[in-house]
Amino acid sequence: MPDSATTGSRFAYAADHALARAGDGYFTWLDHIWHAAACTHPIRLRGQVQHIDPATGELLRTVITDTMPDQVMYKPCGNRRATTCPGCAETYRRDAYHLIRAGLIGGKGITPAVTTHPAVFATFTAPSFGPVHTRPVRQHTCTDRTRCTCQPQPCHARRNPGRCEHGRHNACFTRHHRDDTRLGQPLCPDCYDYTAHAVWNNQAGELWRRTKQAIERHLGQLARRRGVPPLRVPCGNGTHRLVDPVRVAHGKAAEYQARGAVHFHVLLRLDGYDPADPDTIPPPPPAITVTDLEDATRHAAAAISYLTKPHPAQPGGWLIRWGDELDVRVITMRGTGTITDLAVASYLAKYATKSTETTGHASARLTTETIDLYANPAGTHPERLIAACWRLGRHPDHTSLRRWAHMLGFGGHFLTKARRYSIRFQDLRQARIIYRRTHDTGPEHGPIRAADHADDETTLVIGTLTYAGAGWATSGDALLANTAADQARKRREAGREELADEYNRAGTRRWAA
Ligand SMILES: [Zn+2]
Ligand SMILES: [Zn+2]
Ligand SMILES: [Zn+2]
Ligand SMILES: [Zn+2]
Repeated sequence: MPDSATTGSRFAYAADHALARAGDGYFTWLDHIWHAAACTHPIRLRGQVQHIDPATGELLRTVITDTMPDQVMYKPCGNRRATTCPGCAETYRRDAYHLIRAGLIGGKGITPAVTTHPAVFATFTAPSFGPVHTRPVRQHTCTDRTRCTCQPQPCHARRNPGRCEHGRHNACFTRHHRDDTRLGQPLCPDCYDYTAHAVWNNQAGELWRRTKQAIERHLGQLARRRGVPPLRVPCGNGTHRLVDPVRVAHGKAAEYQARGAVHFHVLLRLDGYDPADPDTIPPPPPAITVTDLEDATRHAAAAISYLTKPHPAQPGGWLIRWGDELDVRVITMRGTGTITDLAVASYLAKYATKSTETTGHASARLTTETIDLYANPAGTHPERLIAACWRLGRHPDHTSLRRWAHMLGFGGHFLTKARRYSIRFQDLRQARIIYRRTHDTGPEHGPIRAADHADDETTLVIGTLTYAGAGWATSGDALLANTAADQARKRREAGREELADEYNRAGTRRWAA
């Protein structure tokens, strides 16, 4: 059957189901599924939910899913990857945006005084594991690097081009277009060091942890030299310990470069420290400036290196360090740059919804049953990388390479932050649940949405629910739910609530170019 006919009959099938659903009880159903409506593959839950008064322990009521439309509750899948679930990824992106933003200019419970704290935005990259096709640009004149239209330099120009031992050219004079599929591919995959690359991805999180420590240590030493004494923190038994008077809080997003190496975009904010109330965010000592933060970041990125645990393939362990391409920019109130803190926040949030797609690989966790579908030591670039992860991860000291083979070795989170940087994702989710209960975000009528089985101030909600499946019952349901959610989103956007919120705020920072 030709493609269009297949699509046509599939649509007719979905439409039939949608029509059936759109009859009796449609609005009750839509209200029931509303909070999961934008999700592509919601989780279906079956069982009962008990509402309990936390003060008295009295059972207020029991809701049984058997009495609900479809006899189940729907819960959004919550996947942050836009290729997996666009609806949930959008929710995640918005949360990430607010989280990063609150850390820069305050709000959502974070003091607005953070606006005055020195801050830098840094990009840490991986070292080279062999030449890959690139698109070098000497001086960007574009405003958005992800849609860069600047004239690039030749990829790998050489005065005396030759061939490697595998007979491949070791030069490339092409000025690659932004969409060229060769970008990120090695000039010679047989010369490329897949082993070192896989191990580096796997260690990237640890490398960052050590780097952050080094930045704080550097600033602590600087404070001492500038006459800012360390703080005395009582230990309880009459003794004291000394701690540095300056702290660095960060928000960080991981991104895959086209070559499949992880790099980090990090916002670093300079804070003080109050031993009497460690949860507050006081300003840093005036003797430590944004230039010091920038210097400390550059210094740590260049200085930090360490050896991994040994492996039969590398008995001395692998040397882990950052690549030379470090970018550090100061975010300042008085700068003349054109990119604001809000742009930085949306930049980081956008990366949080992406994963390995840019490298041409997207799969769930790999097992011995599925590995052969994705790994091939003589195959494509991602296949070779996954093969390296799998092979090295056999060793008991390096099992996380296997565990994260589907992520090309990287096992970290895509958006992380220091405890004191900003609010937490949970707080945003909780705020959304409470908001949903008190505002009408869905269709006109809103009984309590029992599927939000989370605590609020007055009632304890306990669910004894079991997994009943994933996805919508029919393709017609998916069509109705996703369309309704999409229309609601468009109405909200038309309202421009967010925009008004952003532009009404004073004290927006600028990112010095
Ligand atoms: Zn979803
Ligand atoms: Zn090239
Ligand atoms: Zn450009
Ligand atoms: Zn070669």
